[in-house]
Amino acid sequence: MRRIYTCFSCGKTPLSKDEIGINKKLLDADNFYCLECLAEYLETDIESMKEKIEEFKEQGCQLFS
Ligand SMILES: [Zn+2]
Repeated sequence: MRRIYTCFSCGKTPLSKDEIGINKKLLDADNFYCLECLAEYLETDIESMKEKIEEFKEQGCQLFS
């Protein structure tokens, strides 16, 4: 029953656990983006997105486990 997530912008599928987690963390929406599109959407770059993911993981965020 695991839901398959697709990037709302470019259609990449399936999205990784990290991508899904960061979407849930940063966006309060039902639309999910891959890391690339999310970085563009938030006007940042992929490297800072990855750093954020690591930060959340260090905080023990359940969304990434
Ligand atoms: Zn995408």
